[in-house]
Amino acid sequence: MTTKTKQVSCPSCHKKVAWIEKNRHRPFCSERCKLIDFGDWATEKNAIAGNPIFNDEDETPDQLQ
Ligand SMILES: [Zn+2]
Repeated sequence: MTTKTKQVSCPSCHKKVAWIEKNRHRPFCSERCKLIDFGDWATEKNAIAGNPIFNDEDETPDQLQ
């Protein structure tokens, strides 16, 4: 009863992955899957790169009074 290891499914190949510090690629099962998923994400991001969504982090005028 000492196995507290949490398990997740690899977002790329849906293999079971142990959620442990030793696994540097979590939640992915391997670096390969991590790169595959990141590639998809980056492609998607490039598609909407024209939208400045995160630009008002520096300016919060309503909280300065
Ligand atoms: Zn995988």
